[in-house]
Amino acid sequence: MIYYKTNEEVELIRKSNLLVSATIAELATRLKPGVTTNQLDAIAETFIRDHGATPAFKGFRGFPFTCCMSINAAVVHGFATDDELKDGDIVSIDTGTVLNGFVGDSAYTFAIGEIEPAVQQLLKVTKESLYLGIEQAILGNRIGDISWAIQEHTEKKHGYGVVRELTGHGVGKSLHEEPEVPNYGRRGNGLKLQDGLVIAIEPMINLGKKDIFCADDDWTIITSDGKPSAHFEHSICVRRNKADILSSFVEIEANEKANPNLFSV
Ligand code: MG
Ligand code: MG
Repeated sequence: MIYYKTNEEVELIRKSNLLVSATIAELATRLKPGVTTNQLDAIAETFIRDHGATPAFKGFRGFPFTCCMSINAAVVHGFATDDELKDGDIVSIDTGTVLNGFVGDSAYTFAIGEIEPAVQQLLKVTKESLYLGIEQAILGNRIGDISWAIQEHTEKKHGYGVVRELTGHGVGKSLHEEPEVPNYGRRGNGLKLQDGLVIAIEPMINLGKKDIFCADDDWTIITSDGKPSAHFEHSICVRRNKADILSSFVEIEANEKANPNLFSV
């Protein structure tokens, strides 16, 4: 069952998503070598609750944290820990909020200090692929057009591995609604996109091969070859000529640039 949103609902989902964006932007000011993901997770939870919302991930199917913190070879769903971030790490911070009954969901991958040129390129291309996917999220296109645009840019053009087992998704009153939004697929295939469809688009792109496994914690998804993986996510609403992006990287990117401990691609 697909729930198409009214304009009022879209505005509520936007508010929730802008709080997610503000939360990640807040963390962007705190990221540096020596900080732990547990410290960051606590800051995120306080920030979200101080803004009258609840963390959407905490307790979702038993997930124990406010944020998914996925470092280097971790693709998504990583746990916060007491390990310190170090120079050369990349960390995907993915979080969600429930505000006025509607979920926001967005993610951004940061680079701590100096990272290898190949990893810089991975971050740049993964973020580009997110926007190429969003360009396809317009009335009359199909889910496969989004999937194709992401796969074409990352796998066909740059030789990266596109994770198959995890996808983007509808979002609204629930964190995961129909439809699935794969990051690979064929043009012109799949569900026809209609006005008011709200989906999270989230390329998960591996520097090496596409294969992954799930860690012993039953959550953390890790690349099988141990190479780094990048992840960027926006929640968007399908519209006639141009998708409406409900989350925002503007403040995140400004804080990333202003933080001397972060490398911005
Ligand atoms: Mg997410
Ligand atoms: Mg998501």
